[in-house]
Amino acid sequence: MIPDTEPDREQPDPTSTGSGGARPWLLGLGKDALAEGLEGLGVPDGKALMRARQIHHWLYHRGASSFDAMTTLPAELRDQLSAGYRVDRPAFVDEQHSTDGTAKWLLRFADGQDVEMVHIPNVQQGGPDVERGALCVSSQVGCSLTCTFCHTGTMPLVRNLGAGDILAQILVARDRLGEWPTPKGQRRISHIVMMGMGEPLLNYENVKQALLIAMDKDGLAFSRRKITLSTSGIVPKIEVCGRELGVNLAISLHAVRDDLRDELVPINRKWNIATLMEACRAYPSGDRWVTFEYVMLDGVNDSDAEARDLVRLLKGLPAKVNLIPFNPWPDAGYRCSSPERIETFARIVERGGYPSPVRTPRGRDISAACGQLKTASERRRRKSLVPA
Ligand code: SAH
Ligand code: SF4
Repeated sequence: MIPDTEPDREQPDPTSTGSGGARPWLLGLGKDALAEGLEGLGVPDGKALMRARQIHHWLYHRGASSFDAMTTLPAELRDQLSAGYRVDRPAFVDEQHSTDGTAKWLLRFADGQDVEMVHIPNVQQGGPDVERGALCVSSQVGCSLTCTFCHTGTMPLVRNLGAGDILAQILVARDRLGEWPTPKGQRRISHIVMMGMGEPLLNYENVKQALLIAMDKDGLAFSRRKITLSTSGIVPKIEVCGRELGVNLAISLHAVRDDLRDELVPINRKWNIATLMEACRAYPSGDRWVTFEYVMLDGVNDSDAEARDLVRLLKGLPAKVNLIPFNPWPDAGYRCSSPERIETFARIVERGGYPSPVRTPRGRDISAACGQLKTASERRRRKSLVPA
């Protein structure tokens, strides 16, 4: 699709924790790995795990961004750690605020790559004490898949994010909102949604490592019920994700026939709708439902017949359908279905027994809505390809 940037689609080392620069970056390392590193610094065996737990607590419960802040560690150890390792944040490059309260934040990692994340506050119930919100986190810079209605899909995959890069998005968001130490009760970031740039199940090991740390009760303490992972349908990894993480699952379905889904979500050519539905039926969601995301594209996938087929497809599966009005971007080549069409579609699906809320677009005015994210990582490089 963008031949001059094709080599960048190569997958980098999936075991890297992140892009912290020359001195190893400790964000994204589990407590055991931290303890091993501490033993390497001469911390005696018996104390390494205890010190690792302290560091973990400082990083993910207190939000420390330097070893100097970790005052429960001996000064000598803090100096040693500062000399050999880093725990700093990626650079905060830009922020934009939507009239609806949504914020989009741009981060730059040590290797110069940019990523966007979005905070979507839920203020409908009013009053700061009941304030909640979702943080939409990216898993890759760009995306290797090319869903035709998605702006991120027009970027090449620049690189996978390491576990540290993924976690750093949560840490920076908490910094911005002043939400340290991890609150016990209401939080402005109450939910994490892996719905930013990239396909999380094509960077599974890093996403897993990051979410395991995010779920640790001694740190960021997000319950798996408050985390949703959205996938375009990387079928073999859906089962693994259910077994190892057990977070909420969202599927970007968008079409009920293979011929149309092959076009809109090309990964469907590898794992078709029947295979995808089988994986969803096997997903251990317990009392929670699988969410199906369905973008409403005028005249493409929004007929009454398709709504009825959707109900047939979901039969027997505890599910909810999120109808997403198409969010426009330059040269997209699609239009959003009319509000009346979306209403009619929703009614048919609801009558079929499936809740089908229409998702109110959030942050459209700052290009922060679903499928609008795209960073300068590519824009910069593409510019440099223009002959002087
Ligand atoms: N790559 C993952 C995570 C992205 S989640 C996935 O595809 O599931 C973002 C959601 O927004 C997905 O359901 C995606 O299909 C949808 N989306 C993409 N572009 C969109 C657009 N222009 N308007 C509305 N929704 C869009
Ligand atoms: Fe990638 Fe998801 Fe966009 Fe498809 S919808 S191109 S998988 S980010």
